[in-house]
Amino acid sequence: MKRFLFLPVAIILVAGCHRTDPRNPYNLPIANTMKTYLEQVKENPDTELVDLEEVIPGIALHIAYATEENFTGVPIYTSAKAFLCHPVAMALAAAQDSLTKKGLGFKILDAYRPYAGTLYFYKVYPDTTFVASPRTGSIHNRGAAVDLTLIRLDTGEELEMPTLFDSFSDTASHTFTDLPDNVLENRALLRGIMEAYGFHSYEAEWWHYNYTNARSYPLRDISFEELMK
Ligand SMILES: [Zn+2]
Repeated sequence: MKRFLFLPVAIILVAGCHRTDPRNPYNLPIANTMKTYLEQVKENPDTELVDLEEVIPGIALHIAYATEENFTGVPIYTSAKAFLCHPVAMALAAAQDSLTKKGLGFKILDAYRPYAGTLYFYKVYPDTTFVASPRTGSIHNRGAAVDLTLIRLDTGEELEMPTLFDSFSDTASHTFTDLPDNVLENRALLRGIMEAYGFHSYEAEWWHYNYTNARSYPLRDISFEELMK
């Protein structure tokens, strides 16, 4: 009888030695300390996460995840901040410059997102069309994706778009065309300016753009507060 008991006990003991880090259950290469982050930046300055409000003075932000007004119903971020990796932020600044001439501006809805946010989003809404899989991480975790819309600079009013931000519906897709002409034009205007500055659209969400070679930027789980220090 003892022989039969040995195997399960041995499995439990071995499994106990390999506890995964709950902050990184899929063992992804995630920088989750400032020490690792700073080493990455020293090795490749392009991976520095820069504050968009410093790169684009006066940029409009509406960071829904810093409020309860998001699909999770709770604040995910403790500050309403937007960070992007340096070349991504510079491309967005150049795009904003060209928009200013038309009297338009960007309103940033989300930018860099610590990996902890991606883990939590998937727990709340496990559908990888609209929420990144925690097995791969999100491009937002790499500081190379931005969610945004357009505003009129004189009034701050948003241009009408197909849906609200994070409306997880077919209407949010670039392929959805049963919309008023002005809405189709606004969506195309945002897409045109983003593509002209090196960003790529994501079919399911009109508001989401990835920068060129987005996956070359490292995954991070560093809080906004740590980045602001
Ligand atoms: Zn996004």
